[in-house]
Amino acid sequence: MDVKIDGPLYSGKAKDVLLTDDPEIVAVRFRDDITAGDGEKKDTLEMKGYYNSVISAKIFEVLEEAGVPTQYLELREPGCILARKLEMIPIEVITRNIAAGSIVRRFPFTEGQEFVPPLIQMDYKSDEHGDPMLNDDIILALGIATRDELEEIRRITLQINSVLRDFLKSRGLILPDFKLEFGRDSSGRIRLGDEVSPDTCRLWDMETGEPLDKDIFRRGEEGVVGAYRRVARMILDDEDIERWNVEL
Ligand code: UDP
Repeated sequence: MDVKIDGPLYSGKAKDVLLTDDPEIVAVRFRDDITAGDGEKKDTLEMKGYYNSVISAKIFEVLEEAGVPTQYLELREPGCILARKLEMIPIEVITRNIAAGSIVRRFPFTEGQEFVPPLIQMDYKSDEHGDPMLNDDIILALGIATRDELEEIRRITLQINSVLRDFLKSRGLILPDFKLEFGRDSSGRIRLGDEVSPDTCRLWDMETGEPLDKDIFRRGEEGVVGAYRRVARMILDDEDIERWNVEL
């Protein structure tokens, strides 16, 4: 895709979104910054953005192949993805297959308990308000999304969960939970946006049960980037490594 990257549009906690000379296309640069606890814990870990970008690109390609509408267009180079510009919906859509993290702290669930069917939780993406949990009435009253859009977001989320669980299982990984963000494209269609990476998913090694995701950082342990690199090695095919010229 032959587009020229222009100036910044928006900067998040771990990514920069840049405009391009095509008004429908943005470039997403994955930075090495990592945060936890609403930005209370912060660090910069060399190569984190590189690995997250190739992991996210691979997962978006797997999802697109399964018919999931996403914003992904291509990995321009490791660290930078080209994507359709979306009007983002400020909801963090969290899907849980196994109880871990905040759900165990806030409700009487047991760590490791399985959710069948999976549990979908929606949080308001707002640092100012501390990302409070939403329900349909609050979403509609705030005018964040319509009833039809919510239904579509739920349908796509369950499809993503099923595709992603199967794919990751085939690569030796368990998917306890993950967070998605959606937006509207220029025709108003709901598409998956943002990233899907060890920053936004819990991923456990199927053999050992050890976490290979941001929980390592949340716990203040070493080896975050090594774990992310391992995830990249587990999910990328030789053909991906070659066409993207990835160093793993
Ligand atoms: N998550 C995320 N961004 C957030 C909050 C959560 O990507 O702002 C992801 C998190 O990585 C995990 C899932 O959503 O895979 C569920 O997170 P949880 O609510 O358990 O939060 P935490 O354990 O981080 O407090």
